[in-house]
Amino acid sequence: MSPEPTGIQRTDNGWRIDLNNGNLECEKIVNTMPVNDYTTLLGSILPREVHKAASTLKFRALVFLTVLLNGDIEPSDHWIYTSEDRYLFNRLSIPRNFDADAPSQVVFEYSCQVGDRIWNMSKQKLLESSVPGAEHLGLFTADMVKGADVNRMSHAYPIYDLGYAEKTAVVLDALESLSGSVTCGRQGLFRYNNMDHSIEMGKYAALEIMGKASVKNHFNWDGSTWADG
Ligand SMILES: Cc1cc2nc3c(=O)[nH]c(=O)nc-3n(C[C@H](O)[C@H](O)[C@H](O)COP(=O)(O)OP(=O)(O)OC[C@H]3O[C@@H](n4cnc5c(N)ncnc54)[C@H](O)[C@@H]3O)c2cc1C
Repeated sequence: MSPEPTGIQRTDNGWRIDLNNGNLECEKIVNTMPVNDYTTLLGSILPREVHKAASTLKFRALVFLTVLLNGDIEPSDHWIYTSEDRYLFNRLSIPRNFDADAPSQVVFEYSCQVGDRIWNMSKQKLLESSVPGAEHLGLFTADMVKGADVNRMSHAYPIYDLGYAEKTAVVLDALESLSGSVTCGRQGLFRYNNMDHSIEMGKYAALEIMGKASVKNHFNWDGSTWADG
């Protein structure tokens, strides 16, 4: 909705969210922003050890290059993984194979970190890396390219390094104990989940707000269920 949250304060009735263009009073908060951005906004409401644990939670970024094509391409796959070193992109998708109304196009995905060489590559440079790769894969030829667009996503995947589960639990337990605040979703729970899980989390966030269920009880974060979504 454009306003950017810059801080969160407790009030007698709930919360005040400071924005870059004003503020917003509310009784309850449902958070879906990256969990460590949320803890930063909560500031001194949370103890120091929670901020320390949150600062260790990192996300992998993605750059998407969408290449619009003249003419159809043959593969019927939704996704193709390209783990060989010769390709800078590590996965591509073909939207028309899951939506017949989509234009003929291929979306190349480049895993990276915010600010690194890939993150900063221009559209032209990304095209120079994707088109020869597509030709090598037999997907399409350079003369079929009609246009291209680039999107950058800073928080695409939670990075599960050693000890992440314990550190995440410190953060999520602290957030769980805040009355009137529910954190959920892929970034909000630092959980590598899919759409169906996210929709279910939305449902449980609503039930928690109504006092009828808890996200924690349903999406247990104390161990084995992390990587399976
Ligand atoms: C490349 C890729 C491919 C995927 N493929 C599949 C698939 O094939 N099938 C499948 O089921 N799932 C897939 N997923 C996973 C699926 O997309 C996610 O699980 C789902 O979109 C997460 O939904 P969410 O509501 O939790 O988070 P999001 O949809 O990311 O929503 C979070 C919201 O919070 C907002 N937000 C973030 N920060 C702030 C801020 N500071 N201030 C205000 N708002 C903020 C964002 O703008 C966003 O609207 C894929 C994910 C990726 C990255």
